[in-house]
Amino acid sequence: MNQRPTLEELMDLIVEHAESQEHFHQLDNPTYVKRGLNPHCGDEIELQLIVEERIVTEASYRGTGCLMSRGAASLLCERIIGQSIDEIKNHETSVLVGFDSSGFSIHRQFCARLAASILKEAVSQS
Ligand SMILES: [Zn+2]
Repeated sequence: MNQRPTLEELMDLIVEHAESQEHFHQLDNPTYVKRGLNPHCGDEIELQLIVEERIVTEASYRGTGCLMSRGAASLLCERIIGQSIDEIKNHETSVLVGFDSSGFSIHRQFCARLAASILKEAVSQS
């Protein structure tokens, strides 16, 4: 991406991901299962990962939440497949999710960061 997407373009991408069911499912025998809550909005997301030799080979999420939290969770799942646990531990949440949420309201930033925060917590002891 050469140009920074506008907030409107970002929101379109997030909505598209929130509506997609691609990463919204249960994995068989996940290596990591971690649930998190965003009390500011009521979003509740559970992340599931399959990790082989410290590389994420599958990622999915479940739960209920607003468009922003679900779209960000889906984007996160798509981006982290193929990444190593060490890369994930070293990256900021905005890098993990693939977009900078700082242009959004504080309320929406909590939603945007929820899945990446859960991911960070899930791998923190690894
Ligand atoms: Zn939310």
